[in-house]
Amino acid sequence: MKWLSRAIAAIVDAFADVVDAILTAVVEFASDLIEMIGHGLGAFFRWLADYAEEGDHGNNAAALRWIGNVIESAFGLVATAVKAVGSFAIDLITGAIRIAGGILSLNGKLFLEGLDDTVSGFVGAVAIIFLKFVELLQTIVPVEQPGRPLTPAERDMLRRIYRHSLSLGAIRVNDRTSGFFSVNPWPFTLGNTIFLKGENVDPADPAGNPFVLVHESVHVWQYQHEGSSYIGRALGNAAFEPATNTNGGWLVDIAAGRLRWTDFGKEAQAWFVEDVFTVGQLTSGSATASGHGVFFDADGAGNIGSFVWSSVDHTALANDAVVAIRRRVNFRLSQFL
Ligand SMILES: [Zn+2]
Repeated sequence: MKWLSRAIAAIVDAFADVVDAILTAVVEFASDLIEMIGHGLGAFFRWLADYAEEGDHGNNAAALRWIGNVIESAFGLVATAVKAVGSFAIDLITGAIRIAGGILSLNGKLFLEGLDDTVSGFVGAVAIIFLKFVELLQTIVPVEQPGRPLTPAERDMLRRIYRHSLSLGAIRVNDRTSGFFSVNPWPFTLGNTIFLKGENVDPADPAGNPFVLVHESVHVWQYQHEGSSYIGRALGNAAFEPATNTNGGWLVDIAAGRLRWTDFGKEAQAWFVEDVFTVGQLTSGSATASGHGVFFDADGAGNIGSFVWSSVDHTALANDAVVAIRRRVNFRLSQFL
């Protein structure tokens, strides 16, 4: 009967994934729309502020800018809450499907996966709503201003990695003040906002560290496709598996039997893409280039990518990761911005 139990578990698991994908798309679309309206209103008030400044009403300009920033931040909080509550509800549904399937098929692994969906969904939703609320308070005070959109060079770099699976128009980069978020010096990502904390990520600057933006953009991809539950999982990774939270940290996942990128922890996933970006190679004819994301230009025909880490060839794993990343469908309207 073991085969039957395994077959039921596989079907239930696949069914839960389909339910997850459909509901996530709906929540994604709605949350993105709210966030975009916020960005639009913020931009409108800042435009009014520029206009007031030209007309020599400097005081009005500062007030208008503040109003725009607060409105933008408030819409960001609402959009996040819609997505967080929505994705937690989805995690409850898929978690229940897996738990029920795990009991029916006496499959302990599926049962635990269901429990994990539910717990990380809850932790992630609470964490992101709280942090977005902090962001709004910081904008009111104001010790924080809304982030900027990606520069054309940053967009080009990320487009090579994600193609259309990541909504670049939704991303905001905060390279100014981050208030409370500066308790530690490490860049971090909150939903679609990347806090650089002074890190220079300019792809055109030889002194820049664009791989930092690449790493953080993986967390945005996780947020866009998996909802806030990724935060619960990332916090779990950082607390229980700190060795995965560094360059090559994904080797810990491989040693633990998690052999595919999709099975890696959330930090390991981000470090893996960063590492492929940094040392991956591309061979075109007799010329081989390395680093700067050239691996992602591989086309399987004239341009062949390779990824060697600590003298071990992980090209197959890297190719598998690229396919897994790019095949996710992006339901956000902001991708057209
Ligand atoms: Zn990270």
